[in-house]
Amino acid sequence: MAAGVELGFAAAAAGPGGAWRLRSACFPSKVGGRPAWLGEAGLPGPAALRCGRCQQPCAFLLQLYAPLPDRPDAFHRTLFVFACRGAACYRLPGPRGPLCAFRNQLPRRNDTYPAEPPPEEPPPGLAAAAPPLRLRSGAALCRVCGCLGPRVCGSCRRAAYCGPQHQALDWRRGHRRSCGKHAAGDDSADAIPEHNEFLFPEYEILIEPEEPEFPADSSVDPGDEQGAVDTSKDPKEQGELGATGSAGEAFQSLDEETLEAMAKHETEEDKVFQMFKERVAAEPEQIIRYCRGGEGPIWVSRENIPDEKDIPNCSCGAKRIFEFQIMPQLLNHLQVDSLGESIDWGTLVVYTCADNCGEGNEYLEEFIWKQDFSAGSI
Ligand SMILES: [Zn+2]
Ligand SMILES: [Zn+2]
Ligand SMILES: [Zn+2]
Ligand SMILES: [Zn+2]
Repeated sequence: MAAGVELGFAAAAAGPGGAWRLRSACFPSKVGGRPAWLGEAGLPGPAALRCGRCQQPCAFLLQLYAPLPDRPDAFHRTLFVFACRGAACYRLPGPRGPLCAFRNQLPRRNDTYPAEPPPEEPPPGLAAAAPPLRLRSGAALCRVCGCLGPRVCGSCRRAAYCGPQHQALDWRRGHRRSCGKHAAGDDSADAIPEHNEFLFPEYEILIEPEEPEFPADSSVDPGDEQGAVDTSKDPKEQGELGATGSAGEAFQSLDEETLEAMAKHETEEDKVFQMFKERVAAEPEQIIRYCRGGEGPIWVSRENIPDEKDIPNCSCGAKRIFEFQIMPQLLNHLQVDSLGESIDWGTLVVYTCADNCGEGNEYLEEFIWKQDFSAGSI
């Protein structure tokens, strides 16, 4: 189990069978779209998926298929992360807030999936499988976000939603025209559109091991070059600052001790961010770093690194351990850039139960920590 770090990359989910490969029966790892639920018991409901800051429903961000080979009860195992779409909810670092994570697992023999691995090619007729409207158990899924939909449209009593926000969104988007216009037992007239503005764009996540050759002493070359560039810039900037007068005075009024402390802090800060950049440089497109219980996360800053006491134990009483981190590169795929404030993070770190508990195969909430870039970096 002393495996190294595995990296995840976003790949376009195109081509014949692309959509099918991202459905539950294929146990996908993916970004965006609707969640491909694993187990059908104990899905997180609308209350559990509400943003801790604005109380709006969180959107499905990504899922990782991460079975534990030595655990028969986790023959199938998937981690799910949800994220609020409101940019303002990302202002503060730390736990939960606009993010939440869940874990679900099933033994090889279960009521939902065959014991044999899924076929490589989609079964005939399933290549363009539409997102499911309900689970096999009959529980309805929200037409907009694909999470549990306990609320139904008052007119047709068929269309299901997680809450009033998504009911209103779907009504605007066309349910007002299609509502009630289908024969009994026929959902085709009211099929769910593949995409809507609430969902993040959908990608498959491809996993590859990180090249193990990362040497501890590789920091010399690129670091020095960067340093050289930076110092060459400094005198000019200082000159400009001095010329503005007020800034120069502000600097002078700081005593030597404070300046020393500030300089030291900045150097340490640079060091952490520099290490982050170097580690990522070999595979700059990585969106995921996975290493359950092994090498810990790489931090973008010295600030807001959680202490052990900041990471709560699992509800079973066991400690939580690092399992994976989501990299800032994922933001490039999410189309969340806007002129104003946008959804943002330095890294998101997911910690899961060290014992991997889970009687009854329900979805269990795990712990996610958001770290931001420090003001000085980037
Ligand atoms: Zn929010
Ligand atoms: Zn919904
Ligand atoms: Zn309706
Ligand atoms: Zn536990």
